[in-house]
Amino acid sequence: MLKDKNILIGITGGISAYKICDLIRKFVKAGANVKIVLTENAKKFVTPATLEVLSKNMVYTDLFREHEHSIRHIGLTDEADILVIAPASANTISKIASGICDNLLTSLVCAFNKPIVFAPAMNTNMWNNPFVQKNINKLLDVGYFMVCPENGELACGTTGVGRMADVERIFDRTNEALAEEIDLEGRKIVITAGGTKEEIDPVRYIGNHSSGKMGMALADAAHAMGADVTLISTVAAQKPYIVELVKSAKEMLETTQSAMEYSDTLIMAAAVADYSPINRCDKKIKKSKDHLTIELVKNPDIVSEIAKNKQPYQTIIGFAAESDDVLENAKQKMKEKKLDFIVANDISDTEIGFGSEQNEVYVIDKNMDIVKIDRDTKANVAKKILRTIFGENK
Ligand code: C5P
Repeated sequence: MLKDKNILIGITGGISAYKICDLIRKFVKAGANVKIVLTENAKKFVTPATLEVLSKNMVYTDLFREHEHSIRHIGLTDEADILVIAPASANTISKIASGICDNLLTSLVCAFNKPIVFAPAMNTNMWNNPFVQKNINKLLDVGYFMVCPENGELACGTTGVGRMADVERIFDRTNEALAEEIDLEGRKIVITAGGTKEEIDPVRYIGNHSSGKMGMALADAAHAMGADVTLISTVAAQKPYIVELVKSAKEMLETTQSAMEYSDTLIMAAAVADYSPINRCDKKIKKSKDHLTIELVKNPDIVSEIAKNKQPYQTIIGFAAESDDVLENAKQKMKEKKLDFIVANDISDTEIGFGSEQNEVYVIDKNMDIVKIDRDTKANVAKKILRTIFGENK
C-alpha cells in the first residue's frame, strides 16, 4: 500500500519524537515518499538535519518563507495522500480539535481532507485530562485514526498510559488507513439527513427522533473521498459542500428530485414522516376542546418515487430502521422500493441509531449479499458504508 504514496509526518514536541526516525526509515524502505513538518517545540527533540537525511527531503517548520511563491501549507496538503502526526502532543491535539491554525502543522491539518493518523504521547494525567479526552473524541468523531498510547514507563519517571504506541503499530495503522481509502472523485451524490417536520400549525409539527448525524457523517465522508455532495437536510449545518435546508416530506421530495437531475447517486438516510396533516392551520390552534382530531394523509415515498424514474447510471440507496426481523424486513423493503442497496439498523438497541454517537449496520445489495459493519462511531460507519457500496468489486 505504501509504494509511491506521499506521506506527510507531523512531529510535535515530545521525548518520543526521536522514535520517528525509525518510522521514517520504515516508510522510505516500503517505497513511500516522506515529507516532514516539525513544530517549534519538536525542534528541541530532533534536528531537521537528521530528518532531512532520513527522509531524503527538505523538512518544513515555518508557515512563511521568503522568496517562496506557493502557499506552503496548501502545497503540502495537495500532494500528500495521508498525514501522520506522531508524537501528537496534548497541545497540538487540542488546537486541532478547536480548528486553531497557529503554525504550519495546525494550518495544514485545517486544510487537509484526506486521512490523518494520530499517535498521541503524553504524561498519564495529561492523557486523562477531561479536556484532552473530549478533544480526542472530537477527532475520532470526524473519522480521524487514533493509535492510542500504551501503558508503560514514561519519560517523567512515572508509569501509566501515555507512552507513544510502538512505531510498528503506527506503521500498520497508516497502511490500513490508506487501504481503506476510496476515490469518489467525479461522483455526484445526493444525501438526505434528519427527520422531516410536518406542520400542524405555525407552532406545532409531527416529527421523529432522527438527529441527522448518520446522514451528515455520510455526506462528510463522501466529500472527503472527493465526491461532489449535495446534502438535503432538515437540520442546519455549515459544510464545505451544498446544503439544502428543508422541512417537510413534500419539500424534501421536490428538492431531491431536482438534485437528482444532475446526480448519479441518492443516499436516502433521512427519516421521512409517513403521514402529514391534511390541512395546516394558518393560526395557532387554541386549547379549548378536550379532544382534538388531526386528519393525516400519506406522504409520498421519496426514495420509491426517485427509484421509479431512475436512470441507468444512477444508484439508489435506502435505509431501513427496524426493531424486529431487521434483515428480512430490510430485504423486503429493498425489493418493494426497487433500491440498489439498503442499509439496515436495529433501532431496538438503544446504544445505536437515533441520536446516538455510534451505529452498527448491515449493507444489503441486490443479490441479497450482506456485509455487517460493526459498532463504531458514525463517522467510521459512514466511511465503511461508502467503501462497501463503491469499493472495488461494485
Ligand atoms: O418504509 P420506510 O420508511 O421504513 O423506509 C425507509 C427508507 O425509505 C429510508 O431510506 C427513508 O429515507 C425512505 N423513505 C422515503 N419516503 C418516505 C418514507 C421513507 O424516501 N415517505
